[in-house]
Amino acid sequence: MDLLGLYLSIPFCRSKCTYCNFASGVFPAAYHERYIARLEEDLRGLRSGAKSWNAALPDAANSIYLGGGTPTLLAPALIRRLFTSLRREFALTPTAEITVECAPGQMEPPVLDALAECGVNRISFGVQSFVDSEARQTGRLHSRSVALEDIARVRAAGIHAVSVDLIAGLPGQTQDSWFESLGVLADTGVDHASIYMLEVDDESRLGREMLAGGGRYHAQQVPEDDLIAEMYTEAIGFLAGLGLAQYEISNFARPGYESRHNRKYWRREPYLGCGLDAHSMLRSYTGAALRFATTDDLEGYLAGPAWRESPRALSREEELEEAWFLGLRLNEGMSLPALREEFSAPAVRGCRDTVAELEHEGLLRLADGDRVALTPRGRLLSNEVFARFLAEPAAP
Ligand code: SF4
Repeated sequence: MDLLGLYLSIPFCRSKCTYCNFASGVFPAAYHERYIARLEEDLRGLRSGAKSWNAALPDAANSIYLGGGTPTLLAPALIRRLFTSLRREFALTPTAEITVECAPGQMEPPVLDALAECGVNRISFGVQSFVDSEARQTGRLHSRSVALEDIARVRAAGIHAVSVDLIAGLPGQTQDSWFESLGVLADTGVDHASIYMLEVDDESRLGREMLAGGGRYHAQQVPEDDLIAEMYTEAIGFLAGLGLAQYEISNFARPGYESRHNRKYWRREPYLGCGLDAHSMLRSYTGAALRFATTDDLEGYLAGPAWRESPRALSREEELEEAWFLGLRLNEGMSLPALREEFSAPAVRGCRDTVAELEHEGLLRLADGDRVALTPRGRLLSNEVFARFLAEPAAP
């Protein structure tokens, strides 16, 4: 049986970033203990839940990811409790990747000690910009020097796998300031980076302001889409020069430092998400993909139980669509023989016209004769490409 990836959502933030519409927020610390107790209860009930859903729940996990939110706002004692519960329910492989997301400047020394003690071996820093004015304008609370100090602190604590997130397209960002952030990232010598093109959610504060044509949150200073695309493209070349190869639309790493956890999503390997607004994919005993999610309402989540509805088993057509739009995110692309083996040759033939059209439009390319991958332009227009696979009629 596959090894599991475990995701734990910790939805607490010190302030709300203007562009963010995740199910996260600023809540009193009193919620933290209740939340961890709820998570522990969910973890305890997992095995019986999986049995009743006819879902194969692996006994062992080789990745854990604490995201959110800002997991490092939890008190050290709560972090230890959570890891104790996790290890009680799942055997962790000796080389398990254990990642925690961190907002720079929001990790007190005892918290870092607790993370190291619990076996955390990877930290993903949501820096977004190393230019102080840009970070501040979006509600981030750190400066460049604080971010750099934090990277040094986690390394000194023995956590050497460090990732930095940057966003191309923040309000006020220019090509010069973008290269300034990339240059600082280069100086850190990190082995992994995530580069996102700003996608303003209509429900975020910044999104609502942009829709209304207002100027709050520096909404008028969001760069044009073309410039954002240019910044992203420039970053790909710049990072490649540092030895950080693009392996997914938004992710770059030195060989061997790719995120094992996130790759499970794109390769459709089983993962279980616990906590607020967490998504899961397990396999049934017959091999069907079972998808389910928790509520995004904190009070509702605390009132439990977490999984109100039974998982939904995907049809074969839906699974094939997923295989395309998740697998194509990876630079390695999709293996056609593997697809045929999983879904049958006629089913894959049913996508032939879509692939041919996208290839003709320069969005997909055939590689090594038996793989299909996005072109650089396809990566810029990936949502358009994925939508075309969704529109694919059901295979006969
Ligand atoms: S720290 Fe992350 S989750 Fe929290 S508000 Fe900012 S972007 Fe959203």
